[in-house]
Amino acid sequence: MNSLNRDSGIDVLIVGAGPTGLTLAIDLARRGVPCRVVDRSPTPFTGSRGKGLQPRTQEVFEDLGVLDRIRAAGGPYPPMRAYRGAEIVWEGRLEEPREPAPGEPYPNAWMVPQFRTTEILRDRLAELGGSVETGTELVGLGQDDAGVTATVARAGRTGSIRAGYLVGADGGGSTVRRAAGMAFLGETVETQRMLVADVRATGVDRAHWHVWPEPDDPGRAVALCPLAGTDLFQFTAMVAPDSTPETTAPAVREILDAATGRAGIRLVDVGWTSLWRSNIRMVDRYRVGRVFLAGDAAHVHPPTGGQGLNTGVQDAYNLGWKLALVLAGAPDGLLDSYQAERLPVAADVLGISATLYDAAVRGAADAHRRDDPRLKQLGVTYRDGPLAAEHRPAAPGPRAGDRAPDAPCRDADGHPVRLFDLFRGPHVSLLTFTGDDRLSVRAGGRRVDLVDTGGHARDAYGVPAGVTYVLVRPDGHVGVASHDRADVDRYLDRLGATLPTP
Ligand SMILES: Cc1cc2nc3c(=O)[nH]c(=O)nc-3n(C[C@H](O)[C@H](O)[C@H](O)COP(=O)(O)OP(=O)(O)OC[C@H]3O[C@@H](n4cnc5c(N)ncnc54)[C@H](O)[C@@H]3O)c2cc1C
Repeated sequence: MNSLNRDSGIDVLIVGAGPTGLTLAIDLARRGVPCRVVDRSPTPFTGSRGKGLQPRTQEVFEDLGVLDRIRAAGGPYPPMRAYRGAEIVWEGRLEEPREPAPGEPYPNAWMVPQFRTTEILRDRLAELGGSVETGTELVGLGQDDAGVTATVARAGRTGSIRAGYLVGADGGGSTVRRAAGMAFLGETVETQRMLVADVRATGVDRAHWHVWPEPDDPGRAVALCPLAGTDLFQFTAMVAPDSTPETTAPAVREILDAATGRAGIRLVDVGWTSLWRSNIRMVDRYRVGRVFLAGDAAHVHPPTGGQGLNTGVQDAYNLGWKLALVLAGAPDGLLDSYQAERLPVAADVLGISATLYDAAVRGAADAHRRDDPRLKQLGVTYRDGPLAAEHRPAAPGPRAGDRAPDAPCRDADGHPVRLFDLFRGPHVSLLTFTGDDRLSVRAGGRRVDLVDTGGHARDAYGVPAGVTYVLVRPDGHVGVASHDRADVDRYLDRLGATLPTP
């Protein structure tokens, strides 16, 4: 138990090594912030669960250095095919795939089973010198002005870990949330349940997401979705309100056989299974003193629309740079902006996913559509938050608080450079537009002069003639936008951040 008790000057203790906790751990590790990650599970999670990575999450993953691996591990969503028995009654897509645009390099959701995503994140954390302390469960916590003391149990013994801050990324049943006394407001609908399983099947093609709606109740569909990058399918079945299915292989087989009329489909292997219940809940605060919540620990909602994992990743991405700055001496109030910015996003996500889920349960004709642009999370904005400093008159293009778009440019030698290449890393970036086809970017201690050959940067940022400064935060949102450089300096002062001079 020595290592549990060591007071090794840990700045941040992350509880939970799901996608949220791992994202935060990577972000802190690349900033050199000492942190520990504990997870009560002795082994990594093996289920496919959150399989849809939205465009904004792909951008975040690019910044964190894992996008190539994520792209290689997955694939696009296949078209859907609905049946009545063996007969095909409908074919279509969740949404039509879009071409990449200069400002949006990854316009479509990318399918990667959650166990692969977390494996890739764990590998990235290891590259940065971090690791997950498995089989280590948080069982209690206390805090004082100087830090948090977590009580953890491992192999039947308990010990304590002292940290400056603690982040509960411990999922929907969060112990951190309960220990910190944060209420989980909302509802659980016991009658709305879904059996989910990862299966291997023969007699069914992998080019379609196969759906068998219940003839008398189209909301109660059984589906097999081929999981990109694997030989698995994700099996899902809405459960009748009056039944209590087992999460066993025979139960999965029986449900599939009943739905398909035994159309030659054979389940040869049933792996991870889970019975999901409809919970639509969130906390009303993300912070109690030195304790924060992120991901499912702070908000849970139906999986329709593929938002949960994505929202958790972006919670972590919003919090990481703020924790690092405050630990380096920035005012503590910066950490309050985490709740101010992320809580309204969770509230929106609850609304969107619940509406889609409701349409699915009702068997609405367009229930399968996923072309609501909000699902991509590129439009998530912190405009109304405390860190948005917009000093320009109303104009097209992103305002302070909005996501800062990408744009392909060229450097002084004519080599292609994307703005995202320059944003990548833990720093803030200052774009200086001069009103013509030139701009400079000061980022991470260097200055790069760019030629906006296609006018993409000016279009994306909607800049008029004259000089415009756009300061991009480490998490890729516009912090301050102004025609006056002094506004940028005041903003950086307020954050407690510096812009290293090249
Ligand atoms: C069928 C289904 C489909 C889904 N599809 C999508 C999708 O397409 N897109 C999407 O974005 N989301 C989807 N989701 C949601 C997604 O799976 C979750 O939102 C995501 O797993 C949340 O990540 P997290 O890291 O916050 O929490 P979790 O993944 O739940 O991780 C929490 C971790 O904390 C650990 N832990 C718990 N308690 C303790 C403790 N006391 N001490 C230490 N460790 C602890 C757990 O072992 C676990 O590893 C889907 C979910 C389901 C069920």
